[in-house]
Amino acid sequence: MSSYVLDNLEKYHCFTCDKEFILSEYQRENATEEIICPYCHSKNVEDYVFMDDEDGLNDLGCMGISHYTDPKEEFECWARTWGVIEEMRKKKGGNKALK
Ligand SMILES: [Zn+2]
Repeated sequence: MSSYVLDNLEKYHCFTCDKEFILSEYQRENATEEIICPYCHSKNVEDYVFMDDEDGLNDLGCMGISHYTDPKEEFECWARTWGVIEEMRKKKGGNKALK
């Protein structure tokens, strides 16, 4: 069992259906196909696990995948995290040269 390697995990978020999934970093690096969402097959997915330049988004540091049973609470959480990130993505889209 000496060749056993525990992989780093990466949590992905799909911006089309707002679901999350976890991939092995190793498998992702060696993938021959583009990463797509397993739920809706969208390519609009992004890895946010190793994100460390986005302050105030502490919820994302957790590797767990979760959901809320209360839709109102779920929306509040979504707005706090992915709503904010979507805004940042939109802003970044136009001026990538700045960072
Ligand atoms: Zn999706």
